[in-house]
Amino acid sequence: MIAPVHVVLHPLVQHKLTRLRQSETMHPEFRILMRDVGMLLLYEATRDLSLREVQIDTPLGRFPALTLEDANICLAPVLRAGLGMVESMLDLMPFARVAHVGLYRDPRTLDAVEYFFKAPADLACCSVFIVDPMLATGHSAVAAIERIKACAVTRISLISLLAAPEGVGVVQAAHPDVPIFTASVDNKLDAHAYIVPGLGDAGDRLYGTG
Ligand code: URA
Repeated sequence: MIAPVHVVLHPLVQHKLTRLRQSETMHPEFRILMRDVGMLLLYEATRDLSLREVQIDTPLGRFPALTLEDANICLAPVLRAGLGMVESMLDLMPFARVAHVGLYRDPRTLDAVEYFFKAPADLACCSVFIVDPMLATGHSAVAAIERIKACAVTRISLISLLAAPEGVGVVQAAHPDVPIFTASVDNKLDAHAYIVPGLGDAGDRLYGTG
């Protein structure tokens, strides 16, 4: 069975995505929007986390309340654009830890090449949310998932701001167990492997390097 692709159609996500897409949106606003959408996508991606009951005292008495069963959660941003979403995710889940995955796209082959990886030592115990904002060819997402799986992780989700059908297909073929959360599956990739209509180069727009 292939894990689903969840397209988050919440009006706030779609509204903010539209601003992200517009060429007139400059890096100060782009950065804020990417933070916001990151937090909202994580909210959806964590919907199925298990809860357990704990007895707590409110000012008015004792009460069996709910808390996360397992706070071993790790966010794995793919550098560099993933950094634009991970800080707001940490605001939502301050107890989460972070595994940085440095990958660049070989301009000739479009393959993902790893240049940095630093993860918590007990990553195998964590639910891992990989944050790869632009799921274009799918090469970086597949490489990131493989790297995380090599650490014996069994619970992995992929969060991408935007996806192309080609990238979704590549991830699903290589890792059918990994659910994908995104704000949109766009039309296609162009000849340079950019998502169309997309939003351009997410890293450049985020950091004003375009
Ligand atoms: N990376 C980006 O930043 N944008 C794309 O459209 C594809 C890959």
